[in-house]
Amino acid sequence: MDEVAIIGAGPVGLTLAILLAQRGRKATVYEKRTELAGHSRAIGLHPPAQRILELAGLGPRAQESGVPIRRGIGMSAGRIIGTMDFAVIGGDYPFVLSLPQQVTESLLRERLAELAPGALVSGAEFSGLLAQSPDGVEFTAGGTAHRARWLVAADGVNSSVRRSLGVPFAGKDLSDTYLMGDFPDTTQLPHTAALFLHPAGIVESFPLPGSLRRWVVRVDGQDRGGSAAEVVDALCHRVGFVLDAASCTMHSRFTTANRQVASMVHGRVVMLGDAAHQISPIGGQGLSLGFADALELAARLASHASLAGFSETRLQAARKAGSRAQLNMMLGRPLPRWLAPARDVLISRLASSQRIHDGAARSFTMTARGVPRSS
Ligand SMILES: Cc1cc2nc3c(=O)[nH]c(=O)nc-3n(C[C@H](O)[C@H](O)[C@H](O)COP(=O)(O)OP(=O)(O)OC[C@H]3O[C@@H](n4cnc5c(N)ncnc54)[C@H](O)[C@@H]3O)c2cc1C
Repeated sequence: MDEVAIIGAGPVGLTLAILLAQRGRKATVYEKRTELAGHSRAIGLHPPAQRILELAGLGPRAQESGVPIRRGIGMSAGRIIGTMDFAVIGGDYPFVLSLPQQVTESLLRERLAELAPGALVSGAEFSGLLAQSPDGVEFTAGGTAHRARWLVAADGVNSSVRRSLGVPFAGKDLSDTYLMGDFPDTTQLPHTAALFLHPAGIVESFPLPGSLRRWVVRVDGQDRGGSAAEVVDALCHRVGFVLDAASCTMHSRFTTANRQVASMVHGRVVMLGDAAHQISPIGGQGLSLGFADALELAARLASHASLAGFSETRLQAARKAGSRAQLNMMLGRPLPRWLAPARDVLISRLASSQRIHDGAARSFTMTARGVPRSS
């Protein structure tokens, strides 16, 4: 019988397994895929997420593999209307680390293999919950029945575990839709995230490792596109940057939603990360939230502590992050041309107040309440 069975070797499931292994607890991770996803979703790791990677034994490796984003600038009609300098948040990580999710996952897999060889079982799809009792759970993964004292669902937004329990994922799809693409960086904006406000919708851009840059373009919800050429066209039209579609290394289109379960704990089944709460990627907080779920759960499971209050605290953090994400998206929605100058003046005024600037920097980087201290 597994002490802890984790469904899903995404970043959250792997982090939980590592943090448990470091405390001498045995966890098995069942993953349906046999290979790492080639497509990068998360790139922005806020300071709390960087600290959790450090606690998982990956501090230097993560830092060496990523690039720090030290500031953000807001542009409108060709001029800078506001800046945000992350140095003001202080601490060990006064920046957002840009690290593509497939690299994060690869580092986590490597670390888990060091600590607990064989803990990751690939090609083992969870297909159903068979039974649950006060001291364990029976389930099927990879076509075989298994038993575990705890079953942790870290299997993402479409969680099969959540569905097999019949737990509703309450919330709604949002109207904000985006195209994204990674290209060689031609901006001369090292370590800087740039947000270009445009009447047709925001364009955001972030440095990536390997001298690349990610571009994210807000589009009409009816837009079904997502090709590299469409990203290039929108950039040329809204920002004036001319990129070569052939140099694009990744492109996609994503929609947004805000959903969460009413409770993350159902008897001996616990849901974590995107399986428990989905927020918009704008502002890059999903992974940080999931890592913090894993840190808190690992501490409780390893010390045989009660899970009372776990779900409430973590879902409240997700609700706050969801509200921040909605605010981030609001800023980038299309605006009638006549209103844009008033918005730009308002942003300039707010950004020039040191108090507002510092508070916004802490809120954006999820450091308003500090960063986790220990595992
Ligand atoms: C476009 C985009 C950009 C984003 N950018 C950011 C960002 O910059 N910063 C940030 O913090 N967050 C970002 N996010 C959110 C982030 O990607 C998620 O919050 C994160 O992936 C959640 O991790 P997870 O481990 O909970 O789930 P997932 O990463 O979805 O992992 C789930 C795992 O479970 C496996 N699985 C699924 N079903 C089964 C099954 N039945 N049996 C076995 N295994 C199964 C899957 O194969 C997968 O490996 C972004 C999301 C998107 C879509």
